[in-house]
Amino acid sequence: MSTDILARDKKYVWHPFTQMQTAPDPIVVVRAKDAILTDESGKEYIDVNSSWWVNVHGHGRPELKKALQEQFDEIDHIIFAGATHPKGIELSERICKLLPGNFSKVFFSDDGSTAIEVALKMVFQFWHNQGQPKRRIVALEGAYHGDTFGAMSIGQRGYFNEPFEHFFFDVDFLPFPDGTNTDEVIRRANELADSGEIAGLIVEPLVQGSAGMRMYSEEVLDELVRIFRKKGAKIIFDEIMTGWGRTGKMFAMEYCTELPDITCVSKGLTGGVMPLGLTIATEEIYTAFLSEDKLKALLHGHSYTGNPLACAVACASMDIFETDESKENIRRVAGKMDDFANRLSRHSGFTNIRVRGTILAVELVVPEQTGYFASVRDKIYQHFLDHGILCRPLGNVVFFNPPYCITDNQLEKCFAALIDFQ
Ligand SMILES: *Cc1c(COP(=O)(O)O)cnc(C)c1O
Repeated sequence: MSTDILARDKKYVWHPFTQMQTAPDPIVVVRAKDAILTDESGKEYIDVNSSWWVNVHGHGRPELKKALQEQFDEIDHIIFAGATHPKGIELSERICKLLPGNFSKVFFSDDGSTAIEVALKMVFQFWHNQGQPKRRIVALEGAYHGDTFGAMSIGQRGYFNEPFEHFFFDVDFLPFPDGTNTDEVIRRANELADSGEIAGLIVEPLVQGSAGMRMYSEEVLDELVRIFRKKGAKIIFDEIMTGWGRTGKMFAMEYCTELPDITCVSKGLTGGVMPLGLTIATEEIYTAFLSEDKLKALLHGHSYTGNPLACAVACASMDIFETDESKENIRRVAGKMDDFANRLSRHSGFTNIRVRGTILAVELVVPEQTGYFASVRDKIYQHFLDHGILCRPLGNVVFFNPPYCITDNQLEKCFAALIDFQ
């Protein structure tokens, strides 16, 4: 069966972020339960990166299954322009109340990248509708906001996107505030803000995901937001990775004093069960689109906007987050990460050990080139697979961001496998 299924995969499937000519065979997963993936030979893997950071509660949660089934019996999918449905309304209301600050309007899309596109369009049109078009966006070096064109434009250049770069709009990038260069970052931010041309600032708050789980402080972030806000720029927080308990709080912005005008969430939103993205705005943003003039509306939408199945699962996922068990699991996993970071600091071969909530990241000291395409990455990846662990290192950065149901025992296996890599 294995060879047959892999042959058919090779014949018909084009996998994401994969050089199909040289990539090793994919794992044929036939079952997923809690933190464990099982392949067709019965071999088990600990899903320590939550299946690309989405599966926050663990696989096969009966609460999510029930929500999906019940919703299917009511409404599978309907158009979301000129029609609405109870779960779309419930989700909108709940996310506005769950977020800190004064968020009041929710726009639906399909995934993280589309949630970002919507946020960018909101910001550009916010200015356009008021007859003061501002066209410049500020982002952080190393940023990753998705793979559609707007999202690529505001991401780190010269990395994944070279064939497309000449189509991107202009973006001003601030140096990443790594703790050593704060004065320089603030100076540059003031310079950009003073131009008066900045439409918006977008950041991954506190942790840059794809750049290798790079972490920075809420103090610097607060200061950046203040600088740009003072000059009128609108602030977008991309909480697509950091949301849903990942940083130890429900959203990274809960560590901050200065809150954004627009927030994007996806990934853990449905517990990793259904694709869904939300772009959530304050009343100030929303009001700029109200007019007798139809052209001032946000003329954007997707066929699957507000899909009721996804909305129902997202609501059920929020129910899980409200349980004591879930809160305790997040605390427990965060505690284990802190504890392991301390233990790891006594071993040689690892540097820049860092933790934020349930994310632990560490760089392996390697003589050769680092970065996403470093060959050591493939060695580490295989090493973990051999130990029954599925994680996806970013270059020489190994990180764990597991589903919160992962057991202490499973975490210890991941820690042991990391220490074992020499
Ligand atoms: C994954 C990610 C995105 C893109 O989300 P997709 O669902 O993959 O399109 C955007 N921003 C951040 C911070 C992400 O981690």
